[in-house]
Amino acid sequence: MDASPNPSAASWSRSRIAALNAQFEPHGPKAILNWAVHTFDDDLAQGTGFGPSGIVIMHMLADLRPGTTVFYLDTDLLFPETYELCEDLDARLDVDVTRVHGGLSLDEQAEQEGEALWNRNPNRCCFLRKVKPLKNFLADRRAWITGVRRDQSERRADADILSWEDQYGVFKINPLANWTQKEVWKYLFEHDLPYNPKHDQGYPSLGCVPCTEPVDEADGYSREGRWGDADKTECGLHTSLGEEESEAAGS
Ligand code: SF4
Repeated sequence: MDASPNPSAASWSRSRIAALNAQFEPHGPKAILNWAVHTFDDDLAQGTGFGPSGIVIMHMLADLRPGTTVFYLDTDLLFPETYELCEDLDARLDVDVTRVHGGLSLDEQAEQEGEALWNRNPNRCCFLRKVKPLKNFLADRRAWITGVRRDQSERRADADILSWEDQYGVFKINPLANWTQKEVWKYLFEHDLPYNPKHDQGYPSLGCVPCTEPVDEADGYSREGRWGDADKTECGLHTSLGEEESEAAGS
């Protein structure tokens, strides 16, 4: 696949991004990641919440470019099993696992915004604990790899493999966009990779403890169980998927 020696936002037209997407579509995620690491080098970082897709990508990156930055947004509200999985993956895989935190403790948030903001205004809470820290972290990067897949939800069904994210000023790469949940789990088992034990307890997707519930029977979408009955399916990180959440959260 073509590589750009010096990519910048200005030099990448929409038609060029569309052409690259057409080129990527028949290729597997490892070929796409190989293109990404050769194109963006040190300016590339993977973001993950240590879900199955993120672990597949971490494993591929450890092989393609050992030492690649893999960051997670620590909201202080992740499941204990998620923190344990983070430590396990950090020890097993040759990537640079990096904690990103907004600097606002839960006590400070309660003082400024009131108790249990996640119940009263989850968009504001996600903005403070996820979107803002992500924006700061990506400020000096050019490319962000995510585990977004089209089969995860209706809103993700049109996700591109490569896009320009204006809000963060980076290229976003979704190397597993056209993979299925089944393909992801097959890869995990074939490579004997660990996964969050909460998935075996009815949690298809794991975020923060107050906003994640088990589900009786997933309807085929792996993001079921997030934000319960609230009319919210994205935390606002993926602007092309959840613009209203990001805007509602303010700046
Ligand atoms: S997922 Fe819930 S607790 Fe976590 S940052 Fe968003 S609203 Fe807050």
